[in-house]
Amino acid sequence: MRVPAILLYKESEIFRVRKIDFRIEVISYMDPLRLNDATLMQHAILLGKNALSNGEFPVGCVIVAGSEIIAEGARASSTRDNLNEVDHAEIIALKNAYEHVGGWPAKVGPLTCYVTLEPCLMCLGALLINGVRRIVFGYEDVMGGAGRVDFSSNISWRNYKDCKDYIVDTKEERGLFTQQYIYDGSQIVITGGFLRQSCLRLFKDFFKDNKSSYLKGTLLEAYTLNCV
Ligand SMILES: [Zn+2]
Repeated sequence: MRVPAILLYKESEIFRVRKIDFRIEVISYMDPLRLNDATLMQHAILLGKNALSNGEFPVGCVIVAGSEIIAEGARASSTRDNLNEVDHAEIIALKNAYEHVGGWPAKVGPLTCYVTLEPCLMCLGALLINGVRRIVFGYEDVMGGAGRVDFSSNISWRNYKDCKDYIVDTKEERGLFTQQYIYDGSQIVITGGFLRQSCLRLFKDFFKDNKSSYLKGTLLEAYTLNCV
């Protein structure tokens, strides 16, 4: 009998041990090559649930290289008494990825990120610059999500090197523009709405909880509580 992936996680707790080769651990239950998007997103959802049970905003994130989860993270510091906007799940996962890989995480190959909520601008930038080329998220962040920002017209990153006002006269500085722009040729794939109902339920539960304070009274709360 095939064991559902989510039960497998609960029973073996394989992802609590970071350096384990999980392909060996699961081989008696399922073909590791069939670990798929749903399985990996379910793990992010589990991390979001854990965050929720700790009173935190329920964002869970896993970073994957090939078929291996190399790092995970959950939102921290989103409570009334301890609030900052740096400890987002994706940032924590990236820091864990550095620890696991022993350096820049992208050196182990193109990375995929699974996250319960659409990444914000900070996290999207951090994911991209650290080698994540595919992002799969569950619930849309209508207030702070960056997945649909039109960078080509909004921020003009791609046109920066062509900006005439910025051209300077020294040979050294002109030389900067002969270097490859780090985003040239990058293909970023962002998929939203994956296992959305499971993710949405986490955020509904968070906003319904009277003990929650983070983002209460905002567009995201109103949208979430009215969302189906
Ligand atoms: Zn973020």
